[in-house]
Amino acid sequence: MLSALKKSVDTPESPILNFGASTVFIGRNGGKFPYGNSVLVQGSEESIVIDPSKSFKNHFDQLPKIDRIILSHCHQDHVAGVYLFPDASCHAHENEVDAIQSMNGLCNLHGVPVGERTEFETNVLEHFSFSPRTDTVGYKDGDIFDLGGDVTVEVVFTPGHTHGHSCLLVRGKHRKDDLLFLADIELSGFGPYYGGVNSNLEQFDQSLDLVRSMDIPWFCTFHHLGVLDKEAFLKRSAQYQGMIGYREQKLLDYMKTPRTINQAVEHRIIYRKSDVGASNDRSEHWMLTQHVERLLKAEQLQEVEPGVFQAC
Ligand SMILES: [Zn+2]
Repeated sequence: MLSALKKSVDTPESPILNFGASTVFIGRNGGKFPYGNSVLVQGSEESIVIDPSKSFKNHFDQLPKIDRIILSHCHQDHVAGVYLFPDASCHAHENEVDAIQSMNGLCNLHGVPVGERTEFETNVLEHFSFSPRTDTVGYKDGDIFDLGGDVTVEVVFTPGHTHGHSCLLVRGKHRKDDLLFLADIELSGFGPYYGGVNSNLEQFDQSLDLVRSMDIPWFCTFHHLGVLDKEAFLKRSAQYQGMIGYREQKLLDYMKTPRTINQAVEHRIIYRKSDVGASNDRSEHWMLTQHVERLLKAEQLQEVEPGVFQAC
């Protein structure tokens, strides 16, 4: 069952939850985009913040001195509170350090076409307070940040959403308080998002297998759900991962008649028909392209003429 309100000590709009060394700050509107849930981890020697969100500034006065910022990945909503901590060292996966080091890197991670960059840049400066950190240090899978007093944060590399996406495992004195920050393995009803230029369906699927195999008592998403116990996590993550197969079946049904990927994009397999716009078109196209590749490999789809596919 959901246990997000177990130890609420703040207003219902913005609960703060404690799990040993971890404090989860639920973002505004329950952490719904553009907001998100951030985690403070306190050891005996260091305090760190994971993914400071747009609404994290509301808690600034309650925080101890922050020594490090650890970013699960560098999408705009996950880096919106980086500017609050100019004196803390900043860490991101080595695959996407460039996305927090410069605006150009951030545009590349988001796959913004040259013609749309001015609008994107204005948006991230105005609404996400983007503040490049050229001194960001790259981390890799298995790296451990030791905060002192038996408190550690370990990198669990989970690519797929982006090519550097990582979950962060917080361990303290008591195993019962261990918490895995899932970042944008967000367990939403929409299902996994692998529609960015650096996204990968196959990797996302494998990352889901990995986190589902981990024996951790608490799991925390950046958006929507907040903190779940293991039972709730296993249930939600099974539904979430199941969306991959659901989409695949929908695509196969649509391609019983020979179709191109562009026709499938227009028809909409993943987004709703009402989700219009160039960026949704691009995401739908890339997600479906990856599904087509996977189904071709599995011999469930065949290319009947160049660029035209039919279910076998
Ligand atoms: Zn993201």
